[in-house]
Amino acid sequence: MTAGHGGHPQDPVAIVGAGLAGTLLAILLAERGLRVEVYERRADPRTGPAGEGRSVNLGVSARGIRALRRIGLWTSLSDLTVPMRGRVVHRPGGARLFQPYGRDPQEILHSIRRNELNARLVERAAAHPGIGLFFGARCVGLDPDQGLLSVTEAGLTRRVRASFVVGADGAFSTVRRLVQHGRPVDYRQEFLAWGYKELTIPPGAGGRSRVPPQALNLWPARQGLIVAHPNVDASHTATLFLPHRGEPGFTTLAGNETVTAFFTERFPGFAAIVPDLTEQYASRPVGHLVTVGTSAWHHRDRVVLVGDAAHAVYPFYGQGMNSSLEDCLVLDECLDRHPRDRAAAFADYQRRRKPHTDVLAALSAENFAELRDGTRSPLRLARSRIDHALHRLFPAAWAPLHTMVSHTTLPYGEALRRARHQDRMLRWAGATAVTAALTAAAVRGARKPPC
Ligand SMILES: Cc1cc2nc3c(=O)[nH]c(=O)nc-3n(C[C@H](O)[C@H](O)[C@H](O)COP(=O)(O)OP(=O)(O)OC[C@H]3O[C@@H](n4cnc5c(N)ncnc54)[C@H](O)[C@@H]3O)c2cc1C
Repeated sequence: MTAGHGGHPQDPVAIVGAGLAGTLLAILLAERGLRVEVYERRADPRTGPAGEGRSVNLGVSARGIRALRRIGLWTSLSDLTVPMRGRVVHRPGGARLFQPYGRDPQEILHSIRRNELNARLVERAAAHPGIGLFFGARCVGLDPDQGLLSVTEAGLTRRVRASFVVGADGAFSTVRRLVQHGRPVDYRQEFLAWGYKELTIPPGAGGRSRVPPQALNLWPARQGLIVAHPNVDASHTATLFLPHRGEPGFTTLAGNETVTAFFTERFPGFAAIVPDLTEQYASRPVGHLVTVGTSAWHHRDRVVLVGDAAHAVYPFYGQGMNSSLEDCLVLDECLDRHPRDRAAAFADYQRRRKPHTDVLAALSAENFAELRDGTRSPLRLARSRIDHALHRLFPAAWAPLHTMVSHTTLPYGEALRRARHQDRMLRWAGATAVTAALTAAAVRGARKPPC
């Protein structure tokens, strides 16, 4: 592809952010023959693990797998991933309920530490001769019309001229802020009233897992939730979701006795599998959860946003990273479709992508309520069983929404449209069944001889 309208063909593409989306896109663009420079404010993830309590485990599903396959990385990640075949819900009395993710063995998620996946992507990018990686390099300024970046490295700021700039710098994107400054664009940012804290469930005796290993373990509670992803060393990264304020909330829950009493009451059994629970609780940071939506994903042919920078979502559908990686594939396809008009490629990318990531944002917010309450609701469980039974009977015609979101690459909006259609059919079938039963009862009543 050519450099398009603006920018000099010799100028590199500048990507801000060497996270998951930034590194994948760097590889895809370099494979197109473009010269790419990636600027990342943090240290190189290959140099060490993420800090304690900051690992973030991800569930890689169909969309992420497709994107990672595209650059030939997926199969080489098997030493870092643990398959999750379903979720295990821990009931207050100690009972465990296993809910499989799907009807066939392919319908599973793969748990991986974000930092480890990031390090492998960086490793792959670093091996490409067309990619230059700059760590400890923070983007601090941008002239979007000229494609001029200001980057601060070791206290010195330099200017970088780019053929175009990609903002892959996450939910609090600097590129997004700078490109939108003074322009009439829509922007929405919503913080959830709940935050999260990571806790580690260490391996048990003999190096064995203390909870079912090949599953997402869940402890739902009133006003609280713990979700635990398995790691390859038989430990689990548990994430405690709680309101920030209120009783109890992260701002008030403190002190060993109070913390122990809280876990004993809300999450019985959990303290027994985390021996140093109170120490971990006191030392780990609280994270915030944010949804970001914006209308302009690009500025002419000079700046484009991908991943969380364009559409951060709450993590409750496990699709933030999966959708961010999918963005890169769609952007790559759009560059193919418009080889001589980069502005058209960027506009096409936004048109194809944004309606679906808007749907994902709404689904992620809804799934928060389901994970918080619904995992225990018999009605939802019954509904889910009907969905799975129909999926087994008519695999081509019927699929639960979760299956379409996690185990297919059907666009999110299309998945929701189909799920709504299925809902209507079920309601119709339910109403028909009730009508039939009432009619039968009425007919039986009419036939009865009068007494
Ligand atoms: C608790 C939690 C659980 C999650 N679980 C899942 C899951 O199971 N499945 C899933 O798909 N997703 C999940 N996600 C979401 C997922 O982590 C994100 O969607 C994904 O990391 C987005 O990738 P990205 O590359 O767009 O942004 P990021 O991963 O945030 O990368 C952005 C990069 O840009 C860099 N940067 C920022 N500003 C600058 C600057 N000014 N200059 C230079 N560099 C900069 C940052 O340092 C960072 O490296 C979860 C998120 C959280 C918080």
